[in-house]
Amino acid sequence: MTAPVVLRLEGLTKHFGRIVAVNALSFDVYEGDIFGFLGPNGAGKSTTLYMIAGLVHPTSGRIEVLGRPHTDYRYVRSRVGMLIEIPAFYEHLSARKNLELLARLHGDISPKRIDEVLERVGLLDRATDRVAQFSHGMKQRLGIAQALLHRPQLLLLDEPTSGLDPEGSVSIWKLLRSLVADEKMTVFVSSHLLHEVEENCNRIAVINQGVLVACDEVQKLLFFSKEDYLLMFEDATVRAQAEVFLRSREGVEIFAVAPLDTQAAALLGEDTIWIRTKHGLMSTILTELVEKRMVPRAVIPQRKTLRQFFFELTRRQPAAL
Ligand code: ATP
Repeated sequence: MTAPVVLRLEGLTKHFGRIVAVNALSFDVYEGDIFGFLGPNGAGKSTTLYMIAGLVHPTSGRIEVLGRPHTDYRYVRSRVGMLIEIPAFYEHLSARKNLELLARLHGDISPKRIDEVLERVGLLDRATDRVAQFSHGMKQRLGIAQALLHRPQLLLLDEPTSGLDPEGSVSIWKLLRSLVADEKMTVFVSSHLLHEVEENCNRIAVINQGVLVACDEVQKLLFFSKEDYLLMFEDATVRAQAEVFLRSREGVEIFAVAPLDTQAAALLGEDTIWIRTKHGLMSTILTELVEKRMVPRAVIPQRKTLRQFFFELTRRQPAAL
């Protein structure tokens, strides 16, 4: 069963004069998603985020948040938390004081909620320190605390881990995963950090020049409908016998040069074969190899990385980015 739709874009379009920044974008984000929103520089990610946040008016198309049009601003603001620009703080005030001031703007936030949020983002023990003393990572976490204060159901984040060290990034993604798991939140996050998105997001949309070029579960997009394996044999003789069999086997393709740039590609040599099979066929092929006494000593599944997938889709070379 599909989870309820939290965010729906339908034909969303934005023109800036002659520039078409976002072009007929349509996709759904479901409850509990950590949804990665990807695209090269200038693809239209920020413009889309600004439109969802109500900061930029669409030229045409619709945005729905929890089934309501996003022009229902009061409702949307009460359900959406956002960190889509550099978070603004009173640097000379403490973290808690900053949240207290924001709580007054919201109107109905208790002091207990402020402590809860500080704890949630791991800043409770630094709550009375001035923000000016905070590191970049701590400021990001305080920015997320601001976004969380009014218990939103949808969190919009623009590159939340940009500029953070690996430890800082890991702690932000851990926080986001825990918000989804513990508080049934949905996270919509733009990022250029593809390995982080691959590790942490369950679904993604990729846009290029304002147009949607892919949208699905990360695992589905990376595996497609075919499967790649590196088979390692005892020696070159068994490998050669296996190759003769596999070449005649329907549903199998053999590659002399690794078609994917994976770590295991370096192992391709005289006792190994790289095969691509139709989805779900591998167990049958293994049985057949065993029956023919051509038993591989290792079968290493291969798949695209999100980085490769992204470059193929946006037709760019890694070096160009
Ligand atoms: P980046 O990854 O570099 O942040 P992005 O995917 O967020 O890029 P946008 O900032 O949404 O891309 O820009 C999309 C296109 O719209 C670009 O061609 C940009 O120059 C143009 N654009 C964005 N904002 C404006 C504006 N206010 N006026 C005119 N053009 C704009």
